[in-house]
Amino acid sequence: QLRLRSALALITGAGSGIGRAVCVRLAREGATVAACDLDGAAARETLGLLGGPGNVEGVPRGAHAAFQADVSEAVATRRLLEQVQVCFSRPPSIVVSCAGIIRDGFLLHMSEDDWDKVISVNLKGIFLVTQAAAQALVSNGCHGSIINISSIVGKVGNMGQTNYAASKAGVIGLTQTVARELGRHGIRCNSVLPGFITTPMMQKVPQKVLDQVTGMIPMGHLGDPQDVADVVAFLASDDSGYITGASVEVTGMRPSW
Ligand code: NAD
Repeated sequence: QLRLRSALALITGAGSGIGRAVCVRLAREGATVAACDLDGAAARETLGLLGGPGNVEGVPRGAHAAFQADVSEAVATRRLLEQVQVCFSRPPSIVVSCAGIIRDGFLLHMSEDDWDKVISVNLKGIFLVTQAAAQALVSNGCHGSIINISSIVGKVGNMGQTNYAASKAGVIGLTQTVARELGRHGIRCNSVLPGFITTPMMQKVPQKVLDQVTGMIPMGHLGDPQDVADVVAFLASDDSGYITGASVEVTGMRPSW
């Protein structure tokens, strides 16, 4: 069943990890994908992995497109939404913000630059993308589903991640407020809180730490990007039509550290 047959989906952070898995999953559900990343070449590589519309009767092959943008820049983000609308002649009805970074360090030593950079990409970036997408949807009278990738760390904190935890907690509050403000326009907004998912971002974490974390996860293993993408697909689809403002944990059950 193709739940997203006629939908256009904009995904940021589409060149790696969770964002790439989301592109693949949504395309498989029939969505046309606008894949955006800071690394434009990586976003284009993602297009090579997409099935979806190319294999669906009546939809032309090569319907997807890649875009380069830095989501922490207001001008770039506005231009991104304009480019997507020009390219597809409509605003995206599904918007998934996966772009994110880490700059870890203990509070006693964290630099102002590491604080600013993480807040700028992870929190301001989601504000800018959500705002630009919502403006496009409202002004065109379109319904939509906005999905913001937060983290379980935004709820429970994590050693060495004051900046990251604050940015991800901010995403939860932003998402709940957007859900309240835009519900009347038929726009839903939900956040997804992954636990530890094996992506390039995790490659920076020492194996010893990953082993410790794995030992604390009730399901006994780290998550796969596909686990997150499956939940995003549900939140993007009408199957979640009465869910908004939710923060869905995808953690194999939250570790209790
Ligand atoms: P990743 O590093 O594999 O992918 C992140 C992508 O975002 C990269 O392609 C990168 O180029 C892009 N990006 C970075 N800064 C950007 C910017 N300013 N503008 C546009 N694109 C930018 O990471 P991932 O693990 O796939 O993480 C995806 C999201 O999931 C992030 O928001 C991350 O915080 C969140 N998350 C990840 C985990 C995990 O365990 N991997 C857990 C919880 C939450």
